[in-house]
Amino acid sequence: MPELPEVEVTRRSFAERIAGATVTGVRLGKPLRWGLGVAPETLIGRRVQAVRRRGKYLLLDLDRGLLLLHLGMSGSLRFDLQMQPAGPHDHFDLETSLGLLRLHDPRRFGAVVHAESQEAPEAVKLLGRLGVEPLDEGFDAAVFHAGLRLRAAPIKQVLLAGELVVGVGNIYASEALFLAGIRPTTRARRIGPARARELHAAVREVLARAVQRGGSSLRDFSNAYGEQGHFQLETMVYDREGLPCRVCGTPIRALRQGQRSTFFCPQCQKA
Ligand SMILES: [Zn+2]
Repeated sequence: MPELPEVEVTRRSFAERIAGATVTGVRLGKPLRWGLGVAPETLIGRRVQAVRRRGKYLLLDLDRGLLLLHLGMSGSLRFDLQMQPAGPHDHFDLETSLGLLRLHDPRRFGAVVHAESQEAPEAVKLLGRLGVEPLDEGFDAAVFHAGLRLRAAPIKQVLLAGELVVGVGNIYASEALFLAGIRPTTRARRIGPARARELHAAVREVLARAVQRGGSSLRDFSNAYGEQGHFQLETMVYDREGLPCRVCGTPIRALRQGQRSTFFCPQCQKA
């Protein structure tokens, strides 16, 4: 599933190339998770001003309104001047004067939603409850710790929930907890200020490194140039059950938390 780093990598791979483009056509494929919410032809003639990211949403700012794109479970975007005719899993094409933006999404949990503004109900419904951005200045260690103290759930679940900080998905939660030396099952409220600071730093470090490495291509993620990411090749614990810990050599263990696999080193993450 594309997580925050993959969405940010996608953004960087086409934001500058599409800026200033005029929409010349829209093609919809099979229904996605949510409908576009506007007649496609009304987008024709609008200009793409910028591409921003909020959580796992890409926000395509138009000169009037914006498009919110979500990659769902299996989505990826391509942006190119020339592209093959749409295939059976290509469910949204935005034709522009600078190239074609295409959403490829075999499982169709992704979406493209139009909103008149970021304050419009359609946008607020999707973005309104998102926590702070982990890579922004607004992600503060003391505020993070205060949030942890209010939560009795296991720390891994709290990270995944996205209320304290957005975008720390399954791979990156396991990796950040390893880096901070915290057992994924530890209750959030039991984490003291020093360890909360370490976890705060670890979340930022893991996500920043993942963006640098082009994201993780676990199944078929690729950026808007069609290039794969490489972070999955250097994980410390994720998907390494039974393999020796890269730090201490103890076999990595796996467990299930809320239907998701969690990986940790029982030696490096004692509590
Ligand atoms: Zn270890």
